Amino acid sequence: MKVAVYNGIKNITIESREKPVVGPDDFILKVKAAALCGSDLRTYLHGHPKITPPQVLGHEFAGVVDSVGKNIKGVKVGDRVAVHPGIPCGHCYYCDRGEQNMCESRKQIGIHYQGGFGEYVLIPGKTLEVGTVVKIPEDCSYEVAALGDPLVSAMNGQEVVGTKMGDIVLILGSGPIGIFHAMLSKLRGAQDVILANPSPGRLQYAKEHNIADHYYCINEGTDFRGYIDSLTDGRGADVVIVANTSVKSACQAVELVAKNGRVLLFAGFPKEAPQLGLDGNLIHYKQIRVMGSLGSTPRQYQMAEKLLFSKRIDGELLITHRIPLEKINEGFQLMIDGKSLKVIINKFD
Ligand SMILES: [Zn+2]
Ligand SMILES: [Zn+2]
Repeated sequence: MKVAVYNGIKNITIESREKPVVGPDDFILKVKAAALCGSDLRTYLHGHPKITPPQVLGHEFAGVVDSVGKNIKGVKVGDRVAVHPGIPCGHCYYCDRGEQNMCESRKQIGIHYQGGFGEYVLIPGKTLEVGTVVKIPEDCSYEVAALGDPLVSAMNGQEVVGTKMGDIVLILGSGPIGIFHAMLSKLRGAQDVILANPSPGRLQYAKEHNIADHYYCINEGTDFRGYIDSLTDGRGADVVIVANTSVKSACQAVELVAKNGRVLLFAGFPKEAPQLGLDGNLIHYKQIRVMGSLGSTPRQYQMAEKLLFSKRIDGELLITHRIPLEKINEGFQLMIDGKSLKVIINKFD
């Protein structure tokens, strides 16, 4: 079978490997669609502390069950399924509390197991036990179902920050995660959703597809505060979601949020300089709640897939490019150039 092997920074090669052999407690998926994720790009550009090359990346995928081990219950050959890559242990302190995203020994397909950038991927049966395998209805495409992972991460963020009816929500970042946050904020009843980003390309795409209510291109010299004031009677946004990795954005969020507002730091910051230098007095005197969010739980994942299946969240809108596996390096280049939202690999042989 053909796989894309990550050999180190900026080094992915297409290789031929033996198809994985199914063990009694695994099943094998023939991958039909795999999405490139921002975290794959980070690994591609900077490496990953938990990944030892050679490794097949790819953790956002869906496919058809090709074979099942003898102890596997819950899927059969021919089933169309999406699988969440995170595999919680199911029995630690956090798993017991239903907070599997905080699991102390969580494993991930694409990090601890070979990932979905190949014709076949071996799935540990544990996924069935913890509830991270979802059957795809006939009227949903594999590529849309493959977006359950990024969607559910945004969903967990929304639950943490508690976007509610009538809120004015400002989202800093209009990549796939920012777009999902905009869609989810609308679904949760936000009165107004403002999408802001420094580069105009993705913002324009979002505007053409009516993702938010207002769009703002953040440039040096423009009056961002004045713009937000004009939309909020000078109060600021009730919820500000930082859907990018810039420290400056986090500081901006605290300035642009209303009194008694909530700020969500959705993404990690550069590990060499994660200090934010937030104005503590703004947080205190405006009674701001600053929160983080990470990953998702199996319960949320099942919900996310259902939102994609019912088209309450229109996954199609996120897919801007489709490429064969051989062109994976070009796919990463599209992301580097900021020309894409989701790039999908839809041909593997
Ligand atoms: Zn991802
Ligand atoms: Zn656990």
